[in-house]
Amino acid sequence: RARKNRPQIFLPHLIASMDEVEETYIMVKPDGVQRGLVGEIISRFEKKGFKLTGLKLFQCPKELAEEHYKDLQAKPFFPKLIQYITSGPVVCMAWEGVGVVASARKLIGATNPLQAEPGTIRGDLAVQTGRNVIHGSDSPENGKREIGLWFKEGEVCSWAPVQEPWLRE
Ligand code: ADP
Repeated sequence: RARKNRPQIFLPHLIASMDEVEETYIMVKPDGVQRGLVGEIISRFEKKGFKLTGLKLFQCPKELAEEHYKDLQAKPFFPKLIQYITSGPVVCMAWEGVGVVASARKLIGATNPLQAEPGTIRGDLAVQTGRNVIHGSDSPENGKREIGLWFKEGEVCSWAPVQEPWLRE
């Protein structure tokens, strides 16, 4: 995107973060699927203006859950977490947009739903950390890593939404 008309007061690192198209891996966890929250959750990201590039219902094998959460391997709750994530189908999603990683984390809310702000997905729809309904990547690097982990070649689509000029000048 053209940057030349932007006011010069922006610091370079801010300009970079404002312009960078990122991708994030969002997943409705088994409790969200069981509770019929899939449509509600997808709707929040759609309405915000992000672009859906990948979507599937999927029964996660144990090995994939362990790989996805490998940074949490040493935590006491790790076995329960793997049991939870593999306890029923999940909805895997890839979303794309400028600033989508941090924005999705804000839409999702704090890890503990009792501490998540009202208006966020966890704040509105959940009550416990062990049943917090949704996952969202915590960095652009992890967004790429996790989309690579959960989607096969050809399952993520590149497309141009017609609403784009009405979302961004
Ligand atoms: P987030 O999902 O908000 O990025 P973390 O990366 O810290 O949070 O943890 C990953 C997931 O592990 C959480 O979403 C939650 O499902 C689970 N989890 C984290 N902490 C606990 C805990 N203390 N007890 C049970 N489950 C937990």
